[in-house]
Amino acid sequence: MPDLAAALRTIPDFPSTGIQFKDLTPVLADPALFAEMLDRLAAPWADAGVTHVVGIEARGYWFGAALAARLGAGFLPARKPGKLPGATLREAYALEYGEDAIELHAADLPAEARVLVHDDVIATGGTAAAACRLVATAGATVVGCSFAVEIAFLDGRATLPDGVPTEAVVVV
Ligand code: AMP
Repeated sequence: MPDLAAALRTIPDFPSTGIQFKDLTPVLADPALFAEMLDRLAAPWADAGVTHVVGIEARGYWFGAALAARLGAGFLPARKPGKLPGATLREAYALEYGEDAIELHAADLPAEARVLVHDDVIATGGTAAAACRLVATAGATVVGCSFAVEIAFLDGRATLPDGVPTEAVVVV
């Protein structure tokens, strides 16, 4: 069986000193590992009635769009400000220094949508929490949050909205 945890590459001090960067490119590059990751990302949500996956720029697109296809769902990119051409909703979130924001084409998300929020890695949870708020502001429902990797000691789950089921394939 393909070993996803063993394939995960940790790059010390990237992009800045003290960060242990979790690099998933070896998983993407290997067909068996890529398929295994998609199988394991999709499995918990098979019966959740997911209609749309919202993937977070940019690494949330790597698995997010393929995950949506596996689930028979649509895919919406949550993008950095100014990247989406149509009318957008915006949600800001705090970074260690300063703040950032993500935007969504809300017109592509029906009010009855049942949304799975996906990113490659959950660290502090601030980015995924902002994506959850964005979906709620658009009037749709977040049915879950999905990550390839969870950095457990940062307890990002505590930052996500109360009661939203959360799954991660590899917990480090
Ligand atoms: P968060 O702190 O959960 O808001 O994480 C913010 C974003 O940065 C997510 O999109 C993650 O993909 C990325 N990220 C944060 N920490 C790491 C890390 N140690 N390795 C790889 N990506 C990270």
